[in-house]
Amino acid sequence: MELKFDKYNEFRIKSLFGRYITNESILQLTEIFSYSEIGKSSNNLPIYYLKLGSGPIKILIWSQMHGNESTSTKALFDALSYFLHIDKKHLSDFTLHIIPILNPDGALLYTRENFNKIDLNRDASSLSQNESIFLKDLYDKIKPHYCFNLHDQRSIYSVADTNKPSILSFLSPAADTNKSETNSRITSMKVISSINKELNSLIKGHISRYKDDYNPNCVGDTFQSLNTPTLLFESGHFDNDYNRENTRKYMCFALITAITSITTNEYKKIDYSDYYKIPENTTYLSDIFLRNVLIKNGIKEYRTNISIMYNEVLDKSANKIMLEPFIDKKGLLRNMFGHFEIDFTNNDKMFKNDDNLLNNLLKHID
Ligand SMILES: [Zn+2]
Repeated sequence: MELKFDKYNEFRIKSLFGRYITNESILQLTEIFSYSEIGKSSNNLPIYYLKLGSGPIKILIWSQMHGNESTSTKALFDALSYFLHIDKKHLSDFTLHIIPILNPDGALLYTRENFNKIDLNRDASSLSQNESIFLKDLYDKIKPHYCFNLHDQRSIYSVADTNKPSILSFLSPAADTNKSETNSRITSMKVISSINKELNSLIKGHISRYKDDYNPNCVGDTFQSLNTPTLLFESGHFDNDYNRENTRKYMCFALITAITSITTNEYKKIDYSDYYKIPENTTYLSDIFLRNVLIKNGIKEYRTNISIMYNEVLDKSANKIMLEPFIDKKGLLRNMFGHFEIDFTNNDKMFKNDDNLLNNLLKHID
């Protein structure tokens, strides 16, 4: 495949930045993309839809069904810009049917769930929410050849038994409880393997796959069981990139690869068993990991490991996501690592195990 990743800075949609991506953010792009409304969300916000290309291969793509998972949305717009401005020849091969923000209420409130506090990715069989119904209606109307289900994953995700952060994760969801290798599953596996092959040279060791337990309440599993090859894409965390701008770039490359691989039939050359060679996800990471901190608890003194995580909190006045640290766990925490780590082994500073522990630790880290 001839992919022009080196032109990323030319086609990246620069007005999309950071974690807080809402309807308002994507409405800034109407000079490039035109939207129509396919319905209203649970709290009456428009759910936008756009189309790119005019070809026979139909791909249905939705992002932000979890409102606070915005990285893949940014990546998606970058990828659309690529096909619109850099590599235009495929516009007559494919038609992309896109819902960039399926859960605009969750996006606005910066929550995973929708306005009714329902996880839309557990609503595929009951279809109890407007958002779920509109997605299913669009699926029924379009009858796509492929579905792309776009998400973000938390910073805890690592690659198999390593301390390497999972920058990108994928899944070819199961179509039944036996995890049968149906034609549609195999097709999804091949497309994912072609992404893995292409991206491996850029982020080797940072790509993983999700466990494939079947859950009929998940949208991907449902569409897969209806024999539509469906791919789950997950943007992960790496290093100190809390705006996930680097991950966005790699997710954009993953989307470009998948779409190109499908339109050129490149994926058909791939042995689907390559999919199983992609290492599985683990959850060995924390945002900050402190090793061997000396703690005083009453008269007891001991050393322990401390895992600190960030809560992502929307600051409405600044329209920004703030990171609020909290102590997640203390103890031996075998097999755990941090995106940021400090080893206190040779540090005899003693921390009292009281309500100020977190603040005192953070002061020390600064
Ligand atoms: Zn998600």
